[in-house]
Amino acid sequence: MVFAHGNDGRMETIGLLGGMSWESSAEYYRLINEDVRRRLGGHSCAEVVLVSLDFAEIEDMQRRGAWDEAGAHLARAADRAYRAGAGVILLCTNTMHKVAEAITSAVPVPFIHIVDATGERIADAGHTRVALLGSRFTMMDGFYQSRLRRFGVEVLVPDEPDRAIVDDVIYTELTRSIVDPRSRREYQRVISSLADAGAEAVILGCTEITLLIGPGDSSLPVFDTTRIHTEAVVDYALAPLAGTAMDGS
Ligand code: GLU
Repeated sequence: MVFAHGNDGRMETIGLLGGMSWESSAEYYRLINEDVRRRLGGHSCAEVVLVSLDFAEIEDMQRRGAWDEAGAHLARAADRAYRAGAGVILLCTNTMHKVAEAITSAVPVPFIHIVDATGERIADAGHTRVALLGSRFTMMDGFYQSRLRRFGVEVLVPDEPDRAIVDDVIYTELTRSIVDPRSRREYQRVISSLADAGAEAVILGCTEITLLIGPGDSSLPVFDTTRIHTEAVVDYALAPLAGTAMDGS
């Protein structure tokens, strides 16, 4: 991903579309600020605009299959972030990337797509066959798989009973601030069976899974989309300071 910066050599303001859920948005905010502090030192932290939506409305649209409505809702949120000064937009959920185009066509600033950032990392690591855990929409609707194919990456998803478990943990626990060790063990079991089926690594393809599974909890190498996405945007936001090529990946 190569984007041109339009600012004056200052750090770019990061626009976060959050609330999906706020539990993962809080992680985005923390990880971005920690990364900027780590890279710049001192009292440095990120310049951020957060537009945080009501997840009850989003979840209702998902259940009704009202994806056009959801796209329009997110496009308005992106416009609010842009008008508040965001120079780059991040959508802090994998699932809602199903309607990413509604956002990219609504704002004139770069949008860092979570699948592109993740696909680049997986390809760099040399993997071609990876497991994907996420919401039922992310695992089954095809938008994630087709975009990953651009990076030469094929996806394995759990079987139907395990997909139901993975999805249920996201919507009944993680997006309600519940982190249950029994669910961690269930995820570990699902990851092991995908390893047996030939997966070389696992994508934590839901931005709350980072709350449940760390690199030490998985029998497979982990691609944590929350961390990858935040690192990608910090690369982009700090590029004007280094005066280097603008690589938003
Ligand atoms: N944050 C989750 C994801 O990354 C799920 C919540 C949502 O449906 O947006 O997919």
